[in-house]
Amino acid sequence: MKDLDPYLESLYHLNVGVVGQGSEQHERPHKPLMLLTVADLIEEGEISENRIKWAPALRNRFSELFELVRKGNDQSTPQNPFFYLRSEPFWHHLAIPGKEEVVANLSSPPSIGELKHGLIDGVLDEELFQLLKTEEGRNEFREIIVARYFPEKREELLNLKSKSALIAAPDNPVRSSAFRRLILETYDYQCAACGLRIRLPNDFTVVDAAHMIPFSVGHNDHPTNGLALCKNHHWAFDRFLITPTEKGIWKVSSQIEPRRSPGEAELAELDGERLLPPREEAYLPSSEAVLWRESKLLRDPA
Ligand SMILES: [Zn+2]
Repeated sequence: MKDLDPYLESLYHLNVGVVGQGSEQHERPHKPLMLLTVADLIEEGEISENRIKWAPALRNRFSELFELVRKGNDQSTPQNPFFYLRSEPFWHHLAIPGKEEVVANLSSPPSIGELKHGLIDGVLDEELFQLLKTEEGRNEFREIIVARYFPEKREELLNLKSKSALIAAPDNPVRSSAFRRLILETYDYQCAACGLRIRLPNDFTVVDAAHMIPFSVGHNDHPTNGLALCKNHHWAFDRFLITPTEKGIWKVSSQIEPRRSPGEAELAELDGERLLPPREEAYLPSSEAVLWRESKLLRDPA
């Protein structure tokens, strides 16, 4: 079987948009939910060829999934992702015969009435569609979408339709690389501790992407579970010597002894400094991730 790797970058970087204000800020769930909907309908045989119809089964499943993940004022509007997914490289539109001209001039989502009368079908890259026709391909696809967009709803979303054992996405270098780019862009290639930013034209950068809660524990590649850190701060972070706190302030372990060496003295200076924030408030480290990290911060030797 061909694997999903060629699609991971695109799936991790869906152009979803952020809505809401302040701490209510969050990504719109519509596009990834439409993709989960399509995977479900392929599994159930509702979609058997690579023409995704605007059908009651599609709208109903989308609404069911939507209830599981909705936040704030999110509205269940399946027509939007059905249309806007065309900006993603693997989703295309085909006009219903006779409607080619109308479709060629569409610049915003058609109304539900227009869709019901038949206007466009969604079409996936053929290779992706073939993957989704296999159980293994669908499971991996769902794991990827859920890990990136809805990790906190993992059980509900993954158990909803399929009771089969899911492949817990193993260490996959392509997935890691997609996560890395996501986090580096979220933090604009800057260390969230010291602000160091070095990015050469060939994309070499001094900054790494670190998971707050390790992927093997949380299956969580959402940006709120990541931090961009320079090599030194990444090293200290991985050893639970530093952590951001809920107030967005760095805390340094009491195991660091500033009088022992200039290096430790420099690391100790981070204590009490502000976390350099991501581009969008929606991507600040989640409370769950921060609390997990704080609970692991190395204390005084007993
Ligand atoms: Zn740093």
